[in-house]
Amino acid sequence: MFDKVLIANRGEIALRVIRACRALGIKTVAVYSEADAGVRHITEADEAVLIGPPPAPASYLNIEAVLEAARQSGAQAIHPGYGFLSENAEFARRCVEAGLVFIGPPPEVIQKMGDKVAARQMMAAAGVPIVPGTPGYLDADPAELAALAEKIGYPLLIKAAAGGGGIGMIQVAGPEKLAGSLEQAQRRAQQAFGNPLLYLERYIPQPKHIEVQLLGDQHGRIIHLFERECSVQRRHQKVLEESPSPALDPETRQKITEAALTAGRTVGYQSAGTVEFIMDPERNFYFLEMNTRIQVEHPLTELVTGVDLVQEQIKIAAGEPLSLRQRDLAQRGHAIECRIYAEDPVNFFPSPGTITAYREPTGEHIRLDSWVQAGTVVSHFYDPLLAKLVVWGTDRAEAIVRAQAALAQFQIEGIKTNLSLHQKILAHPAFLAGTYDVTLLAKPLP
Ligand code: ADP
Repeated sequence: MFDKVLIANRGEIALRVIRACRALGIKTVAVYSEADAGVRHITEADEAVLIGPPPAPASYLNIEAVLEAARQSGAQAIHPGYGFLSENAEFARRCVEAGLVFIGPPPEVIQKMGDKVAARQMMAAAGVPIVPGTPGYLDADPAELAALAEKIGYPLLIKAAAGGGGIGMIQVAGPEKLAGSLEQAQRRAQQAFGNPLLYLERYIPQPKHIEVQLLGDQHGRIIHLFERECSVQRRHQKVLEESPSPALDPETRQKITEAALTAGRTVGYQSAGTVEFIMDPERNFYFLEMNTRIQVEHPLTELVTGVDLVQEQIKIAAGEPLSLRQRDLAQRGHAIECRIYAEDPVNFFPSPGTITAYREPTGEHIRLDSWVQAGTVVSHFYDPLLAKLVVWGTDRAEAIVRAQAALAQFQIEGIKTNLSLHQKILAHPAFLAGTYDVTLLAKPLP
């Protein structure tokens, strides 16, 4: 096992990784930007290294600075958290070259799954259902493109091969909009990802987002830890998630977890990873993409299965064989996660500023993964996630009541937050019925 791990991240996930390291008797090194001086991930780590000015490209995304911090501090491994460098194959490769362990899958696996078109092709070849769409990148002439689109059917989605975070996706209602939307999508993809390559997918109406958690070790064993449903979204980004999904029956659960295992085995997956699917109202599901990192919503799985996914990630990276067996895993009870963002609850605009008062809910079966307190300055430089409120109940109804009660106790003043939006979601008839889909927040909630 490692003696010292560097955490190349900030916010709640940096604290989460510090907790896992502590539980395993590992010392921690935090890195931070000038905007984060004095925040909790620095004070709670054993050591901290300043890596640069506030803009992420100069600090948390600065590969040289992060590697130098690891060298200086004598860390043996780097945990990238989520976001920032976590799905950067080049960074993973540079870690290996520097003699450091990257706590995640091998660089080749990140690379393979980072190209969504290549990943679709690989999955289709392995027999995992993919959303009907273009087989490769779009490079056909306009007439051919129009014919391809006609075959897929409208409405359809234009997506970026290098896409992520819901950015760069454009829905096209009909053929008259295709050429213009393609141009716009290409510009956006180039701007956001430095890669203009696009593909088309059929738009699945009233879809649910269902994903399956995997763990694979370096010795060829791979297991699944069931599903999470993440259909409450704004701008194609998750807001509230739950596990189990109220929409899966045992047969579909069996099929979707099997498909996820096939996906993981096909790429030789190691570490914690998630296979994302989109599911239509008839419970047909299709592969969307694989996230080759720990995810924001991982605590749901931890509460329902009792497995500490971050500790497992670290043990796997240290070469330990998985001690968990598929047959010993079960879903126990129900968990709900509310992502508390510093943002306007109606138009979702970020709301940076200083938190003037802060009181967390407490009680049984409440887990709060947060990095803020009264006096914390929430910077516009980074993601607006403040905290994750995660509750557990013996069943879904109990989890919903506990989440509502916890939200009512949660007090954050000085900046706008989406606490009130979560209350509305948890009271919405479609949410209560479990029949909601990714369009739930498309219109303002009553
Ligand atoms: P990203 O990598 O940018 O997060 P994903 O492919 O994972 O993009 O999709 C994010 C979200 O966009 C999904 O959870 C879903 O809400 C919506 N979406 C993606 N593909 C489709 C599709 N083919 N039909 C309908 N909705 C989709």
